[in-house]
Amino acid sequence: MKGRVERLTDLLGDKEVDVLLVSDLVNVRYLTGFDGSSGVALVGPRTRAFVTDFRYVEQAAEQVHASFARVQASPDLLDAVIDLIPAGEVRLGFDDAHVPVRQHVRMRELLPERVELVAAGGLVERIRAVKDAEEVQRIRIAAQLADAAFERIIRDGLVGRTEREVAIALEHDMRTRGARRPSFDSIVAAGPHGALPHAQPRDVPIRPGELVVIDWGAELDGYCSDCTRTVAAGAPGDEAREVYELVLSAQLAGLKDVRAGRGGREVDAVARDVIAARGHGEHFGHGLGHGVGMEVHEAPRLSQRSDDTLAPGNVVTVEPGVYVPGRFGVRIEDLVLVTENGSEVLNGLSKRLLTTD
Ligand code: ZN
Ligand code: ZN
Repeated sequence: MKGRVERLTDLLGDKEVDVLLVSDLVNVRYLTGFDGSSGVALVGPRTRAFVTDFRYVEQAAEQVHASFARVQASPDLLDAVIDLIPAGEVRLGFDDAHVPVRQHVRMRELLPERVELVAAGGLVERIRAVKDAEEVQRIRIAAQLADAAFERIIRDGLVGRTEREVAIALEHDMRTRGARRPSFDSIVAAGPHGALPHAQPRDVPIRPGELVVIDWGAELDGYCSDCTRTVAAGAPGDEAREVYELVLSAQLAGLKDVRAGRGGREVDAVARDVIAARGHGEHFGHGLGHGVGMEVHEAPRLSQRSDDTLAPGNVVTVEPGVYVPGRFGVRIEDLVLVTENGSEVLNGLSKRLLTTD
């Protein structure tokens, strides 16, 4: 596979952008290796420069790839950027998804007239969506770590523990195993609370017979995992069991459809149709899945509005849910790698309805 910067400059050519100003710090880290909190990169066919301020000069010397010229700015990064823009008429791409309006106004004021500002958001994200083998390995290890933490926590049972206690135990266990942090705030949502797809854990004990939606992930070596299991705290009712099996069959149908060349909208529809056919369409109000990598939500998207097409190297979640207001919720989520010949699930937890006490 071509290098990251080479793949990016190919895209710049398509957009007729001469130089791209990369200011989002995750994108800066992806391209340059720098993980501090002040830095921008300039990337073009003949330009590779990294700018930081004096606080990060040493860190940059250690981290930034040798192919980038390192420049110290004082006081403002933008002043140094202006000096680095090639001569002549230049189309300078900037990330319109991340640059605040105020900064854009300032750029326009400071830049000479020969420099045209071109909205070019999402280009680095498109490159990031295709993971190389090392990135996949990091995501795989994060997913395995999160699996182990979940198994450990569930062994202690759920009934009588509060949602927040379970969430904290899960996060503590992940950190103990080496995670830098949870990749997002863990969701532990029991009974009717599980019908809120993004529920915050409460100081409320989990009661016998409740379904508990647990959505968690680990961040390790700069990469995230993301997984959801719905667990029964004691024997669930027939309706809950039925909905669980429905969500599982939708999840399996979606997983089976994940492969290179499929549209994000098509895969979403495959799983959504299974749920809609059983009258629960209105209870599945979010997209089927999203890319996962350096960020827990990134390209590509699997949803009704997605224009993305899956490619080998994409890592996406498949996470249908049915949320019955006032009753319970069920969501099942796996992390899947799109391969040359199909797909591979990166986490390893069983999806049979787990009943604990
Ligand atoms: Zn999740
Ligand atoms: Zn997710």
